[in-house]
Order: sequence, then C-alpha cells, then structure tokens
Amino acid sequence: MMYLRRLVSAAPVCVLILSALSASAAHAQPATAVTLFNNVRVFDGKGSSLSEPTNVLVRGNLIERISPSPIPVDRSAATTIVDGGGRTLMPGLIDNHWHAMLARTSPAEAFGDVGFNNLVAGDEATDTLMRGFTTVRDVGGPVFGLKRAIDQGIVKGPRIYPSGAMITVTSGHGDFRQLTDLPRTIGGMLTRMEQIGGAIVADSPDEVRVRVREQLMQGASQVKLTAGGGVSSPFSPIDVTTFTEAELRAAVEAADNWGTYVTAHAFTPNAIRGAIAAGVKCIEHGTLMDDATARLIAEKGIWLSQQPLPDALRTGFPEGSVQRAKADEVWPGIAKSYELAKKYKIKTAWGTDVLFSRALAQQQGAILASLTRWYTPAEALVMATSTNAELLALSGKRNPYPGKLGVVEQGAVADLLLVDGNPLNNIDLIADPANNFKVIMKDGKIYKNTLTK
Ligand SMILES: [Zn+2]
Repeated sequence: MMYLRRLVSAAPVCVLILSALSASAAHAQPATAVTLFNNVRVFDGKGSSLSEPTNVLVRGNLIERISPSPIPVDRSAATTIVDGGGRTLMPGLIDNHWHAMLARTSPAEAFGDVGFNNLVAGDEATDTLMRGFTTVRDVGGPVFGLKRAIDQGIVKGPRIYPSGAMITVTSGHGDFRQLTDLPRTIGGMLTRMEQIGGAIVADSPDEVRVRVREQLMQGASQVKLTAGGGVSSPFSPIDVTTFTEAELRAAVEAADNWGTYVTAHAFTPNAIRGAIAAGVKCIEHGTLMDDATARLIAEKGIWLSQQPLPDALRTGFPEGSVQRAKADEVWPGIAKSYELAKKYKIKTAWGTDVLFSRALAQQQGAILASLTRWYTPAEALVMATSTNAELLALSGKRNPYPGKLGVVEQGAVADLLLVDGNPLNNIDLIADPANNFKVIMKDGKIYKNTLTK
C-alpha cells in the first residue's frame, strides 16, 4: 500500500520529465536524410539483368524515385550524393535460416553466460550487416533482446525476424539435455537451455500451445518446431518423426490465431508429410525428401527453406561422433533435394544455418554463391532477395518490419548494396563484401560508404 502511494505521488514528476524529454527530442529532430545514388545500374531483386545507367533517390527509409534523368536534390547537410560510377545497386541480402545467437558462440558457451553470449552475438550481428545481410529470419535462439537493441540503434545489425526458442519433444532435435537430466516432470523445473529461451521441450498439445504462445508474447514473427531428427542434437536419430500430428496442429492453431505461421525442421519424407498434414506452411531443410514428397510440397504451395550446407560444417563434427554419423547421412541429400526443388518448381527460400563457427559465418556470402551449383547467379540472387522477402511477409500482422523488402523499386524500403562490379556475371563478388560492397544501406541509413568523403 505504502509502495503504491509512493508510486502514485511520483507519477506527476515522471510525467513532467517525460514531457520535457519529448519536447527536446522534437526540437532536435534532424532533417530527413536523403541519399542520391547517381549513375548506377540496378539489379532489382527480381529480374535477370541490370538496368541501363540510372539514378536512385532515397528519402527517409524509402526508395522515392528511380530515373535515368538527373534527379535534383538540395545539397543540405542531410543529403549524401554517391557517385556510383556505373556500379551495381542491388537489394540488401536476406538469410532465411540464421541463428543470430548461435552462429559464432561455441556449443559449450551457447547455454552459458547470457551477457557474454549477447555481446558475442551483437558483434556478429554487426559483421552480418557488414557482409551485406540487411535482414535475417532467426529460426531458433534467445534473440529478442538482440533484435530490440538493433531496432533501437544500440547495436548495428540486420533486421531480425525472431522465432524465439526452438520447440521440440523429449529427445527431439533441439533437446540438448543429458541422460542425467531425466526424467522430466511436466510442469516441473526448466533446464538451463529452456530458461534462457534457446530451445524448449513440449510433450503434449497443451504444452505445445503454452510454449508457442510464450514465443508469440515475446514478439516471435513466426514459430519454429522440429518435426524430425537433426544432426547436432545428441539423442534424435535422423529417421525419427518427433511431434504427433495433434501436437503440431496445436502449434499451427496457436500461430494461426495470431495471424502467423509455423515453420518445421524436417529432413525425411515422413517428417515433412506429418508437418504438412498438420498445417505447417514452411519446411526447413527437406534434405532427404523423395520425389513424391517434393511433388506434395509443390502441390500444396508449401515453402521450402533450403541450405547449401558447406562440407566444412559436416567435417566440423569430430569423426566417430554421433553428430558426424548423422551429418554423413544427411549431406548426400543436399544436391538431390535442390534438384527436386527445381524439378517441381517448389517455392524455395535460401539460408545458411551456420552454427558455432565465426569462420563459417564469414562465409555467408560464399555459401550463397555456392547456389550456382544449381542456379544461375541471377536466380540465386533473386532467391536471397525478393523471394526470401516473400517468405518473411508470411508472418502477416506479426511482421515486425511491414515495408516492402528485397527489391529495388519505388516505394520499397531502402536496404541497398552498391557492388563494385556485376554480380550477375560474377557472383563471387558477394563472397568478398569487405572489398566489393562500397556502400551498405539499411532502412535508408548508410552503414558503410567508401566512396563519398
Ligand atoms: Zn537451423
């Protein structure tokens, strides 16, 4: 009571301070930033060729005008003019299978000190943006704080579409407990991994609903469940199907009630089919799918979020380990699943799934370039820009960044890269962002510019 009274009597002071703050903020309001890119050739994120030399005007966070004729601007302090010199202007890249909290940290650290992990992830987020990735879809990890810090401009990094904790079953992919942690009591103490929101176990439709709603409450833009075995978790064989259809359906209903969708980790035909039957809208990996399953994915209009996983990820697991044996089982499916995705014209998104390796994270652009095993450079870049943006938009009303992403067109959000050369002829340019990306812009703000003094 005493406490309450003190709070109430303090309120007018707070209001005064707040109104004083907002008054000074309004006073210091900077003029809207304007950037004019002169003489650039545009890759719009959709086509297969560059435009003729043109000029692109960005005002605030939007692309306002694209015109081959000179665009007049006033040369105020808030105006930046970039002489493109005929270089390529393209949309910022999107990685649709990223783990911002787990990409650089070691497995041992991942469920350790939260403060340390956030600082590591913040530094990695800055590197991610400096590689030209202006947006990532995070498919598992305690990423809400990092996202908030980036959105508030405290840390430089990409936009993050967060899933929050990966939801799994006992012994499923994402259950990193040891056998000594068993048995679990439903409603009992949470493990460390669960407390920090990395991954969480749910073994009934009711538990699944609780866990899904908890992620949505924290701001998840989509929800991630693991429908079958995975490589990195110790007790989930690749062939198993984990959630029952009723459990998956509970997640789908809860997400659907919030106007968004469930994406499910699944390698095998059984796991994929179970997820689709339950109403899941996107499959992560799909690496071991067969012809009939690929056809089903295409017919149902389900998204497939694939990754051209580099061999270094497989050989990174020690020889003789359970994880290595499982990686050896999955890797041969990579090429076949890409061929099936092409054959059945599946809606295919791209991502990297880098885990626990700064060196591999630095290869993010190179992993994208490796798609040219199956696609033309233009097809690969369309996938990592406008197509990936289409999948992001599936989060509907829960989309934290509702503007148009992944394209260079009037009215779209100004996430832009100025590339020294033509990536449609030489996609390897994107594998060396430090040298080849001359300007990196996210949301109309320039984060790198080596051209304008
Ligand atoms: Zn993953």
